[in-house]
Amino acid sequence: MMKKLIAKALRRLGIIEFDFVATRARSYPSECDLRPGEIVHVVDGEIEKWACLKCPGGCGAMIPLSLSQRRRPRWDIALDWFGRPTVKPSVHQQNDCGCHFWIKQGRIDWCKGGRPSR
Ligand SMILES: [Zn+2]
Repeated sequence: MMKKLIAKALRRLGIIEFDFVATRARSYPSECDLRPGEIVHVVDGEIEKWACLKCPGGCGAMIPLSLSQRRRPRWDIALDWFGRPTVKPSVHQQNDCGCHFWIKQGRIDWCKGGRPSR
């Protein structure tokens, strides 16, 4: 919580950069709970379940990434001290938006042709 405030203050000062910062939750978020620039990291007990984010491609749809060991496909999320997420592998939306990107230390790294034109 505190770290996120520090991260946002440092971003305002131009010291660090990020597009996404993680918020921890126990349960799956509803679409309207989800804010732009936020990844909701759903952890129940010790079990990582989901990483949910609003599509940065413009459609704004919720993208739920499964972190469960038992599901495919699955993603890995790692957070740095500020809560900036690194997500592996890349995220590829299958809807009209079709965006394709990596999230590295909270920053969106668009794949070639993966950024929707507006
Ligand atoms: Zn989209």
